[in-house]
Amino acid sequence: RAIVRELGRIKERHEKELHLMEAIPPQETDPTDFKRRFLKKIRKLGEGNFGTVELCLYDPKGDQTGELVAVKSLKTENESSNLRREISTIRNLYHENIVKYKGICNDEGGTNIRLIMEYLPSGSLKEYLPRNKSNIDKKRLLHYALQICQGMEYLGSENYIHRDLAARNILVENESLVKIGDFGLTKSIKDDEEYYKVTEEQDSPVYWYAPECLINRKFYKASDVWSFGVTLHEIMTYCDRDNSPPQVFLQTIGRSQGQMTMARLVDALEKGWRMPRPDSCPEMVYSQMLRCWSHAPENRVDFKGLIKEFEYLLT
Ligand code: ADP
Ligand code: MG
Repeated sequence: RAIVRELGRIKERHEKELHLMEAIPPQETDPTDFKRRFLKKIRKLGEGNFGTVELCLYDPKGDQTGELVAVKSLKTENESSNLRREISTIRNLYHENIVKYKGICNDEGGTNIRLIMEYLPSGSLKEYLPRNKSNIDKKRLLHYALQICQGMEYLGSENYIHRDLAARNILVENESLVKIGDFGLTKSIKDDEEYYKVTEEQDSPVYWYAPECLINRKFYKASDVWSFGVTLHEIMTYCDRDNSPPQVFLQTIGRSQGQMTMARLVDALEKGWRMPRPDSCPEMVYSQMLRCWSHAPENRVDFKGLIKEFEYLLT
């Protein structure tokens, strides 16, 4: 009898709950689900190895009151698994110095996917720095460096390796705030692994890569530190084209064909060659680059250490 009574009570409660659920209006829309038909292209923002990024107006009301968003799609459909991986990475990242994920847009067929992010009107450091050189002093450049390190420290604490840190992938929110973007090559490392071994052949940004990446195709958190050093070099030259990492290398080692360039780059790095100090770069800052460029990953400074240095240099 007690059991029957108990069952009756459960049934009653269940019916009440069902009733309550009906009373709550269903969630009208998923804010991360962007409908293709409301996405209006304004212009192309940029293009990298794999993707194209466009400025779009998302205007569901159709009265031009919508919001501006940056939309990344792929040049070729067969890269779609890469974009899916990028999306699954970026949607879990929450940091001041990391570009904000807004949602996705699925094509009608569902084969193509687009990544919707916040739009940063000033573009990447590569476009921004040469254009605004006269208004940006050295101190400001060091602030950018510090912010990149803070974003990278967070990324590492979430066990990700970026693998494509370069000025072209740092976006400018305003004159005093930059954010890391482009997680297209970012890999997750499991807690018990120290590094990620790349298996696929890809068009890799070799001039930003540490020796272990070029030789063994191994990427550690410390490999991101090396790339940061190269990015810092770019920043200190205001992303001057004539002083870009590929230019500096080719001026020193000379131009050659395909595979040979890679072999010569590796050879030079192993012999201890490093990019020289840019003319206008203070010794104190160049010495940070050199700390990022220790041959052995374990001898390099880490992002925590760099944050301390930049904070010290900025006081
Ligand atoms: P890829 O993976 O093809 O390199 P990126 O994500 O690096 O693509 O984007 C390519 C370029 O598009 C960037 O260098 C930058 O100039 C521009 N861009 C990317 N995302 C944004 C954004 N959220 N806001 C403004 N410009 C952007
Ligand atoms: Mg890029």
